[in-house]
Amino acid sequence: MSEFAKLMAANDWYDVKDSFASISEAQVVSALKKSQQGGELSLDDFKALISPSAGPYLEHMAHLSQRLTQQRFGNTMQLFTPLYLSNMCSNVCTYCGFSMENKIRRTTLTMEQIEQEAQAIKAMGLDHILLVTGESERKVGVAYFEQALGILTKYFSHISMEVQPLKTEEYARLAKLGVESILVYQETYHRQKYAKYHLKGKKSDFDFRLETPERVGQAGINKVGIGCLLGLEDWRTDAFFVAAQLEFLEKKYWKMRYSLSFPRLRPCEGGGEINSPMSQRELVQLICAYRLFNHQVELSLSTRESAVFRDNMLKLGVTTMSAGSKTQPGGYANEDKSLEQFSIDDNRSVAQIASMITDKGYQVVWKDWQTGFTQF
Ligand code: SF4
Repeated sequence: MSEFAKLMAANDWYDVKDSFASISEAQVVSALKKSQQGGELSLDDFKALISPSAGPYLEHMAHLSQRLTQQRFGNTMQLFTPLYLSNMCSNVCTYCGFSMENKIRRTTLTMEQIEQEAQAIKAMGLDHILLVTGESERKVGVAYFEQALGILTKYFSHISMEVQPLKTEEYARLAKLGVESILVYQETYHRQKYAKYHLKGKKSDFDFRLETPERVGQAGINKVGIGCLLGLEDWRTDAFFVAAQLEFLEKKYWKMRYSLSFPRLRPCEGGGEINSPMSQRELVQLICAYRLFNHQVELSLSTRESAVFRDNMLKLGVTTMSAGSKTQPGGYANEDKSLEQFSIDDNRSVAQIASMITDKGYQVVWKDWQTGFTQF
């Protein structure tokens, strides 16, 4: 059992879940005071800030979150878009349109199609892409990624990946080709319920997934993004374990940078029940709490959320947004919606999102730091 898995085992899921009900307003006020005075927040403080008792303090939290984010990141917003390379998948996940048992059309982009997608994305002005695939070792393994990167690095200076968890040596191969960051979400930290949502395939190995950010760190990749799928299980408890994993990783892999995402479960082919619905207000609370807990972590908000919500969140802690997203392979050159992983809510173009950002007095960052600049 890994070090972090042991730490998790020491915090029983149901004990953590039940503890939220007994958090008092005094604990919330104490965490806010600490934050206001520039102090570092503990995991217990974070817990207080995402508890129901912190609900009435949302405005105060938002104000502090805005201030801290501006101090650390300035008035900037990074933009990126996902590039779906394949919807082949060897896993059965109950909440995902790409699940192996769903009867959808499957495709994997050829190198020629990848080049066409790259050109279409580049024409929108973007320089940062996130490569996304289903998890099919056979069809989209490291050799395929290496070939694709050979093309994509000609077009983009910042490439992130959200693909199946790989071995350390495989991440090292990708790092050599210029991959800057890896995103891997645990979905839920509830070990037993995880098995209920991940019925078949490699993804059903809870521990292999949990240890992935460590393998990314060992391979020398610059940044790792973690998170959970909000709506699967009690969102407060899952968010607590995300914060605990972030704290653990930052201590052990202090050279790495970190990002957090907060995807809420969306409708998709094959259904998927939302067991623990999270309101927009609660999502704001969570984002602000993450910022108060960790001043330097990047917070990324996707087009799963509505345009109005994203516009309102611009100044409240978020540092990165996706824009112009298509969630189907080949979606930028071809509009075929039948291949979508999930439907998105903010359908605006990259240009429209960029102008919303500048209208609000913020600057668009098209290009993130490259590893070369940070490894002196
Ligand atoms: S969540 Fe990922 S692994 Fe699971 S079915 Fe969807 S694409 Fe495959």
